[in-house]
Amino acid sequence: MTMPPKPPAIGARRPRLAVHKFSSCDGCQLSLLNAGESLLALAERVDIVHFAEAGIVDEHAEADIALVEGSISTPEEQTRIQAVRSRSRWILSIGACATAGGPQALRNLGDSADWIASVYRRPDWISALPASSAIGAHVPVELELPGCPVSTEQVLAALTSLLAGAAPLTEQDKVCLECKRRGQVCVLVTKGEPCLGPVTVTGCGALCPGLGRDCYGCYGPAENPEVATLAERFGDLGLDAHAVARRFMYQQSGAQPFHRAARDWRQRARPAAPPAPGAESGAAPGPQPDGSTDSHD
Ligand code: SF4
Ligand code: SF4
Repeated sequence: MTMPPKPPAIGARRPRLAVHKFSSCDGCQLSLLNAGESLLALAERVDIVHFAEAGIVDEHAEADIALVEGSISTPEEQTRIQAVRSRSRWILSIGACATAGGPQALRNLGDSADWIASVYRRPDWISALPASSAIGAHVPVELELPGCPVSTEQVLAALTSLLAGAAPLTEQDKVCLECKRRGQVCVLVTKGEPCLGPVTVTGCGALCPGLGRDCYGCYGPAENPEVATLAERFGDLGLDAHAVARRFMYQQSGAQPFHRAARDWRQRARPAAPPAPGAESGAAPGPQPDGSTDSHD
């Protein structure tokens, strides 16, 4: 477990807080706005210098703490995140988009150019990177808080710690532990539902199992997730290979353990191609859907 670094020493003046948006649905910013009185209390302790959703716009302002929502999906965003990094002393990326590429990282499993051509009449007008990736893949990030959307309580707790000069605590437990602590009935054991709780980090309070449905992993992989084993268990429950792959193709498909499971089970779902005339059996596997050539890393 890596601890986030200590927050920057700010001195006597009020800390400056910025909230930046990249490719996203704005849901994580909205969950911050929904904090209501807690947000007003925060605004009394910091100067909010940029938060477009709240009507405060100065994206070039220097900030002590920058909250960053969204993934890097375009060349313009690649350039802009470097500028945000250079003007921010501490970056906290919030939500599945900023920490793992978000729902838009589903295109990383296929050919981005094909996707664009199938959606837009003039694909040559679209400027997009071949993959959608996390903020941390482009610049150093001091802390990541996943979730779709991010937990407002976790963001406020992290900011409270930072303002007190302490390193924020992060969740490490799996959703199963949270489920057990709350005394909830296991939907995997009792109903055979393909629950992702055994490999997902908590932060949601085991919300979905608490409502009688399976976790779909929106907080992303926990530490040391046994994803391959759980995927095999889903197969034993009766899911076909395509359905197993789809379990890992929600908001966190860009997180490596989930991406690998989706890729491998999509590969299993494909009908075997007839051997080419004269081809030898046991040949090396061909290119994968994500463009790589390995099969089981
Ligand atoms: S993590 Fe979810 S709620 Fe947050 S911006 Fe991305 S899609 Fe929206
Ligand atoms: S319902 Fe899901 S998260 Fe809860 S204990 Fe069972 S497998 Fe784990």
